[in-house]
This record gives sequence, structure tokens and C-alpha cells, in this order.
Amino acid sequence: MIRFLISISFTALFANSLQADEGMFPISELARLNLQSKGMQLTPGELFNSEQVSLVDGICRVNGCTGSFVSSDGLIITNHHCAFDAIQKASTSANDFLQKGFIAKERSMEIPAAGYNVRITEGYSDVSAKVLSAVTDYMTFLERTKAIEKRRKQIEQTAEQENKGLRAEVAEMFAGKTYVLFLYTYLKDVRLVFAPPISIGAFGGEADNWEWPRHTGDFSFMRAYTAPDGSSADYSLNNIPFHPKRPIKVAPQGVNEEDFVFLLGYPGRTVRQKTASYFRFEQDVRLPAIVELYGWQIGEMDRAGASDRSIAIKHASRSKSLANVEKRSRGQLLGMVRTSIVATREQQESELQAFIQADPQRKAKYGSLLKDISLVYDEMTSKGPLEIHLKELKSACRAMSFAFTLYDAAVERTKEDIDREAPYMNRNYDLTIQQLKLDIADWDAATDAQMLQGILTRLSKISNSNEVEALKKPLANLDVAASLLKSTRLGQVAFGEECLKKSPDELATSGDGLLSWMIRLYPTYKQLRDVDKERDGRLGQLYGSLMEAKQAFQPSVFVPDANATLRITYGRVRGYSPADAILKTPISTLQGVIEKTTGVEPYITPQEVIDRYRTKAFGPFVHPKLGQVPVAILYNTDTTGGNSGSPVLNAKGELVGVNFDRTFEATINDFAWNESYSRSIGVDIRYVLWVTGWVYNAKHLLDEMGIR
Ligand code: ASP
Repeated sequence: MIRFLISISFTALFANSLQADEGMFPISELARLNLQSKGMQLTPGELFNSEQVSLVDGICRVNGCTGSFVSSDGLIITNHHCAFDAIQKASTSANDFLQKGFIAKERSMEIPAAGYNVRITEGYSDVSAKVLSAVTDYMTFLERTKAIEKRRKQIEQTAEQENKGLRAEVAEMFAGKTYVLFLYTYLKDVRLVFAPPISIGAFGGEADNWEWPRHTGDFSFMRAYTAPDGSSADYSLNNIPFHPKRPIKVAPQGVNEEDFVFLLGYPGRTVRQKTASYFRFEQDVRLPAIVELYGWQIGEMDRAGASDRSIAIKHASRSKSLANVEKRSRGQLLGMVRTSIVATREQQESELQAFIQADPQRKAKYGSLLKDISLVYDEMTSKGPLEIHLKELKSACRAMSFAFTLYDAAVERTKEDIDREAPYMNRNYDLTIQQLKLDIADWDAATDAQMLQGILTRLSKISNSNEVEALKKPLANLDVAASLLKSTRLGQVAFGEECLKKSPDELATSGDGLLSWMIRLYPTYKQLRDVDKERDGRLGQLYGSLMEAKQAFQPSVFVPDANATLRITYGRVRGYSPADAILKTPISTLQGVIEKTTGVEPYITPQEVIDRYRTKAFGPFVHPKLGQVPVAILYNTDTTGGNSGSPVLNAKGELVGVNFDRTFEATINDFAWNESYSRSIGVDIRYVLWVTGWVYNAKHLLDEMGIR
């Protein structure tokens, strides 16, 4: 297998942006980090080595999460909330794996996790020059974005041809500046092996989500499979377990307060390099809209599922992910005020502006930069309400989302492969369609009617929504839209399959009223997509220049924002003080689970846990000082969404926990990290092993992980 390694150098924007432990560092930075002086016992080469087997070979991306291989037979440990979709899809009201949990007693009983895939980073190389050579000075911003997109796709296609069997992806590290090609082993047959009941896996529900102290056993096990020859393959009974080059060793003794820990993973997105004008847009427009829109949708789904478990199961996964983002957004809004993020950033920018103004050449080149960036956000602010609600129309109303994907697919598939929107390119199409079918299978007509009515009511209150021709009628009479939804066939997989065979013109005459309405709205959505691309092009160029100006102002070492590529972060198991006179310690225990248990959602604890607590059947998994099974741990690393499921590793690179969350104060991490409030939360390996082996008797999994 070809691997290549090219170091990428990153230079800082603000000298103070790199605090002692801040940073989701790209793997290329390992040598520079001097982790051994911080407590690490592994060398950079033992962590990642392009030529030999290294720790990174045991880490994988599981859809939008992270996982670790914990056996040589492809057993993966990740979060319960990361496997949630698979557990939900496998559940029915008669056989409810969400409620009762799932144990595959033998491999033949493992359940295919449709829509899941697993990636392992094999190598990377800087392709910035290749990407940026696609851009010329004469392009409009829209042309610029499209040219960069196309070049990235070309590089990916070529890399996949040259590295058969691997998946290629070009990631933007610094907007408008730095691009890196990543190569992945890509496994498509993933199965569910073990999940605790939701009362353990999501103990505390949304009340406890993003909070500490925490008592959630947010873990589950999956397994990756390959074709008999070891190549990546779709699900088949003939497939065999994947053999990772180096599984991660599990350390059943766990960790202690102040121990050094580090995490490897695939953090999704941070926005720490953005300007004050961006944060103002987030604070005033986008985040409040998300809180309102998601809060409302969660309420609708809760109501719909309250008296019918089969409907509750259909909505469970979507409702959970909206709730996660809704609460995070509330935390971010509070955090923005608490940390005065806009004012702080404005102060930094006024110093930068003074520096720019002091030199005529700099002034000519960068003088209007900050202003130009804020103009983009001004435009997004004024158009925000309509744009956000239009986008939500084809997301909240699931049938509208299906209609959009079906028509968009038909339109895009008439183009050359390289010119299509990414989801419809040949290399992604199967995945897109598989996801569409899974979503259709979860459709509930009555809930969707509420969603459509709710979003249209909201749109009707936005003054310029009448500018959208195709909205006029349904906005004037909500019953028109309701009747379209009532008669649509878009909630039937068979109709979706029929539509996938049709051309755009044929779809336009399908006779399905809701689909026809979406087709009339389609030019609006196409325009919105272009507007986003135009802004991306503008901002990409402007942020690229801003970085140059900042480098000239205060050069130092700097880390790129998270972008779902492999990163390392390190720190210590440590408590914190979120407010005056409050001190939170970093290890929670089973005693806390019992104390919280009321028998009412979300604090129900399975009887088998209570019984073992009462008889002190803790096995060897007792914390020596606390005298209890530890449940969750807190540490001061730098993480975000996507680090869900990341291994928490001790100084020797052994698994001592599985990361799953942050504290409420740390939701602001995505904008600004700070040692005083940034804390991540993981489930303690001792709780994982106790629940799996002692409570649910899946000792075969402990054996497989080498735990005696
Ligand atoms: N629980 C979080 C999530 O799923 C993980 C994090 O963001 O730290 O988004």
C-alpha cells in the first residue's frame, strides 16, 4: 500500500491563539509537539509511521464519529450515540433493541448497520498548489468555488485510480490556502455487535447531555468486515472480519486524576479563525434560529411518538441529533456572552487594523479586508431569516427532503460525472441513495404534516418570503400544502425507486403534487446553493489574505480548524470550576447512577445494574480510592463533535475510556478553547467492561479484547 507523508507547516494568526494544551493537531505536527515532555511514553514514530505499523492503524472513523479497533478481528468500540442509528434501524416495537439493548452471542448474529462505513487514515500529502492552480484572477467568486471544487474532485478521482481500493478525499486546512489529500482504507460492511439498553447508553438523556457530572454508559461495539480476500466489500454473508494492522490495547485498570491522556479522532468542525463579524452573525441570527427551529421539531416528534412506540422509534435518531445540536447551540449562545467573544475579537482586529494601516503597502493590500469580510456577513444577516427557513422547509418536512434529493439526483445525473454535485458522483451515489431509502423507511405522514404546517407558518411571518413565486399559494392557504402532503407517494420506498429511474422531465409529469411543488421550488434551491458557493469563494479568498496579514502581524505556530480529518489532542484527567464556589471533580461513579435513578425517564436504571450495585458485584473494576466502579471521566483536551467515540488513551497508548461529550461551558470550544472551562467527557473503560462482561455477561467480548 502506498503511503506518503509530506509535512505541512502552519503559521499562527495570533500569538496568543496557542495556549498550553489548545489544539486538535494534524498528525503531521507530531514531531513538533514534543509530547514526551508532557507525559507521553510513545515516540512520534510509534504514534504514526508512514512506513510501519503504528498506533493510528487502530483508529477509525465511523460515519461522523471515531472508533478504535480493540481486537484483531475488527471489533470496534465507539459511542452508543454513534451506533444509535444502527440500533434504531434494527429495532421494532416488538423487538426493541433501543430499550433492551443488543448482544450478538456469536458473529452470525451481528446485525448489518446499513448506511455505516469505516475509514482508516493511510496517508496524506499537500496538494495546495494543485488545487489553487485551478483558480485565475479573472474568475467570479462563484467560478472560483466551482473551479476549486472540480479540481478537488479530479485529484480525488486520480488518487483513487492510482491507489486501488482506497478512498481519497481532499480537505481544506486553511480557507483559500492549504489543501491536503487524505487516503483511507474504506470498509462498507459494518455490523452491530453489542449495545447496552438506552437507559445505560443515554442515561440522563437530554437533561444530562452536555453536562458534568455525568453517569452515561455511552458506548457500544461494532465490527468491520471485508471480502474473503481482505478487500472492501458491501455486506455479504461470505465476508470475513477485517484484520486491523494493529488493534488498540485495552487497559482495564483505567486512569486516575491528573494522569496524562490523549485522544486520536476525527473532530468535525471548529471556527476559531473567523472574524468578529462572523461571530455576530452566529450570535444574532443563526444560533437563535437553530434553537427555535430544532426545539419546535423535537416537540413535534415527541408528541407524535408519545402514544405509539413504533413512531417513537422512527423518530428516535433524528430527534436525538436535533436535540444534541439544539442544546449545544444554547450552550454556545451563553458561552458567547460569558466570554465576550465578539468584543474580544473586535479588540484583536482593531490592533491588526492599526498594524495594517501603519504601512502604505500593507494598507493598499489588506486595508479593506476586515470590512469586506463583514459585508458578506451583513448580507447573510439580512437574508438569513428567509434563507434559513427555506433550507429548513426541505429538511424539517421529510417528504420535501426526499423530493429534493430525487429531483436533484435526476438533474445532476444528466451531467458529466466530474461536474455533478458530490453526492451524485458515481463514487458517492450508492451511499446517497442508500441513505435516502433509510430515511424514507422512517417516514411518518402525520408528523410530517405538522412539520410542513409549522415551517410554512414560520415562513409566512418572514416579510420577503412572498418573493418566492412557488411559495405564494401554499403560504396563502396552508391547506393546499397539507393536501399535497396527504396525497403524496414520496413516503414509499417503491415510489422513490421508480423516481430514480426517471429524467427531470419525466419527474415533472409524475402526477405527484408534492414532488411537482418541489420542482417549482427547485430553481430557488439551486440559486441558494450558488449563493452559498459565491460566498464561499469570496470568503475563501478574503480569509486567505487575512491569514497573510495576521502572519505578518504576529508570527507563531498555529493549528488549522477541525475539518473531519485525523487529529491528536492531549491533556490530563482534571476537574474544573464552572462558576464561583463550585468545584467539580473528574471521576463519577456507579453510586452516582444509583443516586440519580428515579425510575422515571431519563433516570431509569436496569434492575440488573441495581442488583449488582447492591451486592457489590463489581468484579475487578473498582477504583482503588473511590471504592466504586468509575462511570465517566473528565479531562482538559480540545475536542468537538466527531471526537465522539474517540479513544481516550493513557501515556502508553492504551484505551482507558471512550470520549462522548463536553461540558456545557465547553460547547463554546468550537469558537474558542480555554483551559479554565474546556472539558471533555468520556466513559471510563472500567464501566464499559463491567457493563459488558459483568452485567450483560458478554464475556466473549472481553476475551476477544484480551481482558482476563
Ligand atoms: N456529544 C458531542 C456530540 O455528539 C461530542 C462533542 O461534541 O464533544 O456532538
